[in-house]
Amino acid sequence: MMPAPQQNKDFPYWLLIVLAVGGYFFWRVLTDDLYTQVLQTLSKGIWITVFVTLVGFTLAATMGLGLALMSTSRFIVVRQTARLYTEIVRGVPIIVLLLYVAFVLAPGMVALFNWITGTLGFDPIRNRDFSLLWRAIIALTIGYSAFIAEVFRAGLQSIEKGQIEAAEALGLSPWRRFRHIVFPQAFRRILPPLGNDFIAMVKDSSLVSVLGVLDVTQAGKITAAGNFRYFESYNVLALIYLTMTIGLSLGLRRLEHHLREKTIWGLVRIRWGGRLRPDCIGSTQRRLLMTNPLRTSWDTPFELPPFDLIEDEHFAPALDAALIDARAAIAAICDGSDPTFANTIEALSLADAPLEKALSPFFAMAGADSNPVREELMRDFSPMLSAYSSEITANTALFARIETLWNTRDDLDLTDEQARVLLLTRRNFVRSGAQLEGFAADRLADVKQRLSVLGTRFTQNLLADERSWFMPLDDVAGLPDFLIAAAKSAGQEKDGGGPIVTLSRSLIVPFLQFSLRRDLREKAYEAWTARGANGGETDNRALAGEILSLRAERANLLGYDSFADYKLETQMAKTPDAVRALLMQVWEPAKASAEADALVLQAMMHNDNESGPLEPWDWRYYSEKRRAAEHDLNEAELKPYLQLDRMIEAAFSCSNRLFGLEFTPIDAPLYHADCRAWDVTRDGKHMAVFIGDYFARSSKRSGAWCSAMRSQQKLAGDIRAQVINVCNFAKPPTGQKALLSYDDARTLFHEFGHALHQMLSDVTYELISGTSVARDFVELPSQLYEHWLEVPEVLEEFATHADTGEPMPRDLLDSMLGAATYDMGFSTVEYVASAMVDLEFHAGEDAPADPMQKQAEILEDIGMPRPIRMRHATPHFAHVFAGDGYSSGYYSYMWSEVMDADAFQAFEENGGPFDPDMAKKLETHILSAGGSEDAAELYLKFRGAMPDATALLKGRGLAG
Ligand SMILES: [Zn+2]
Repeated sequence: MMPAPQQNKDFPYWLLIVLAVGGYFFWRVLTDDLYTQVLQTLSKGIWITVFVTLVGFTLAATMGLGLALMSTSRFIVVRQTARLYTEIVRGVPIIVLLLYVAFVLAPGMVALFNWITGTLGFDPIRNRDFSLLWRAIIALTIGYSAFIAEVFRAGLQSIEKGQIEAAEALGLSPWRRFRHIVFPQAFRRILPPLGNDFIAMVKDSSLVSVLGVLDVTQAGKITAAGNFRYFESYNVLALIYLTMTIGLSLGLRRLEHHLREKTIWGLVRIRWGGRLRPDCIGSTQRRLLMTNPLRTSWDTPFELPPFDLIEDEHFAPALDAALIDARAAIAAICDGSDPTFANTIEALSLADAPLEKALSPFFAMAGADSNPVREELMRDFSPMLSAYSSEITANTALFARIETLWNTRDDLDLTDEQARVLLLTRRNFVRSGAQLEGFAADRLADVKQRLSVLGTRFTQNLLADERSWFMPLDDVAGLPDFLIAAAKSAGQEKDGGGPIVTLSRSLIVPFLQFSLRRDLREKAYEAWTARGANGGETDNRALAGEILSLRAERANLLGYDSFADYKLETQMAKTPDAVRALLMQVWEPAKASAEADALVLQAMMHNDNESGPLEPWDWRYYSEKRRAAEHDLNEAELKPYLQLDRMIEAAFSCSNRLFGLEFTPIDAPLYHADCRAWDVTRDGKHMAVFIGDYFARSSKRSGAWCSAMRSQQKLAGDIRAQVINVCNFAKPPTGQKALLSYDDARTLFHEFGHALHQMLSDVTYELISGTSVARDFVELPSQLYEHWLEVPEVLEEFATHADTGEPMPRDLLDSMLGAATYDMGFSTVEYVASAMVDLEFHAGEDAPADPMQKQAEILEDIGMPRPIRMRHATPHFAHVFAGDGYSSGYYSYMWSEVMDADAFQAFEENGGPFDPDMAKKLETHILSAGGSEDAAELYLKFRGAMPDATALLKGRGLAG
């Protein structure tokens, strides 16, 4: 075997000498007839040499890989067999092996072959039918496979365990781990020794001449023996070998160098945050991209994504290509002339356009209509995107340009909006660690990447738990028809079977309200609240702990006392103390109210001959009974009046009266047959596209949300928003009308309020468009919009009976509105408990060592009433753990409610719910303004004063 080449940096004088001597002999070959003649004769043997080497090496490499895998097997017999083979073969010289194979093994194989085929009635073959050429190849294969096996084994074992664990944590399958992590690195380590073995084999193939195989050595021997010109013959022979081996050796070094320094592994490395050069896309990928609908211009109605053309396999190549485009755009910014607002800040906001184009349809589909492929893509994309955004904020050249602009901002003649965008952009860089250097900068990047991976896993575990649990519904005692129908529909969708209860809120909540079977309620409730804490692979408890400690580390690296301090800096609330003060102001009245309610409910339960204390799975059941008794309202009687289609019309109608919006259905391909789309106009001018995706299905994540596939902006032209409202309402059986609970109808109005924030947006820069505002401000438009559902004239018009078309009877309407504050103690307690746990998880300098224990302590401290549990316990608290969005920010719903109560109060004080002046103020200062000013400023302009919690307590019926 050749030793591994030394890494030396000397000038290769040896190569000059070789070239000089080689050149001399080449010249002789060209000019001297004798040399020419020898070369001609020998050249016939070269092909045999090349053939023997290539075939032998390919077979040996295949066998070697098999042996290497055997030697890492879990089974001792397999391991030891590989070991035995390797040791024996390596101990025998190649020439002995050749003779042994040729004259012992080969005849043995012939005999064995004849014995087998003889029993089948075939004629025997003769020894000489087994050519010496193949005997030689087999011998070389056996000999080299043992050496190559060792090369492979060392290469595979050199990959650190940590990397494989990291890949496991990313959720990569074993095959993808091998392909993306182990193989590329092992290959780079294996290549040099493997190449050396190949060169050695070129030389060792000369040994086949002892068997009389006419390779180049044998040809040389024959020539020399025939013409007696040993000097010339062996010179030519040596020259041929040297040409082959030195040529290979140089080629091999180039390849190694290439693998180390260049980017042919770019497409693999990019997944782990490396840079990718545009030229490393192969022609195949380029061809694929030309037909990829995510990379072409969209000739669709309103430039909606062409969902009918988009296939799952389009996403990954489109994202790869979009990242290249985006990176090229960033590089161009950094290479540009002196920084200006246009060539830096505006260019930066345009750089992401190709990414948004590829990702916005993907995220819409991954959230609302997922499948295993999309889940896997999600796992792949999240570290890529997090790496990309870290790369931008870690780009020192880019940050230097922003700093230059920031330091000269007073001389730049910026508009208010531009000044705000510059401030936010710079703050974003600083908060991402742009001012950090060295270890701290590297560590921060690692922490962020890991957090993004953990967040994705948290969501997926939750989805898996939600999807896997269901309970066959055998006993329907007490259940209203709509629930039985929905349970049938869920069973149909699941596996075509009978009715089932799933963990979808729209099924489980009414089940808990109505089922007479206390044991089944307990079973369902425990399953519902155990999401993410069921042990095994989908358990989220350890993930939560890791997420909290990484967040604390992140805040400390950036110089904040706690993650809550870091997080709240950009919020309207600004400090943890302000949040705590707000929550505790609400907590005590809510708890007192809930405790009084608990006594009433427990007494009702004892009347039912159920003993013991009131349990969490009893609350909704007795609360519903009490509601029916005291407010003469039951959900089942109410439900036929709340038709989905009519409630959508109601939401549209209110926005028409307030802001003049009109809605026309659009016929465009969407990502799921249940989606509907409308063209939103005002005075004939296109304002936005609104998409409603209302029904629950197993491919949809739970909850309700509003997302934008495109946000309004003017920098890249007059771009209008494309907004989606996603809900999880129970789908009616075919042919029947979809009915909502009052809660569902509120959700519909809530999400539509978010949609208005996007659709009415009127700013130049995407960074501050629509819902891009402080987290504790973003729920103001949505929660405020819920108030219009409570306006009696709205319900009188739109709450009509599904079968008769009759409007809701006045007394039912009154009791429904009267019941709106019913059980507010309960819902406020379950909410505030979650918000407190979220805040305290993040408010300490160190993260809690055991979040579950910390959660118990916090609840103990605030005196959580026994029959109520947190609305979201830690293992399924997706708001807080699925991403950073609501971490130490869950309080913001209540913060916004303080404002929405106060803001709606403003309408009532000034001409009523549809007062045009107030509507105008709302649009100008809040709905169209996005993040163009600080939230507190915007609110002051709208209302003329800051709100306090009094209106909230009154609104919740907790004012005492
Ligand atoms: Zn919301």
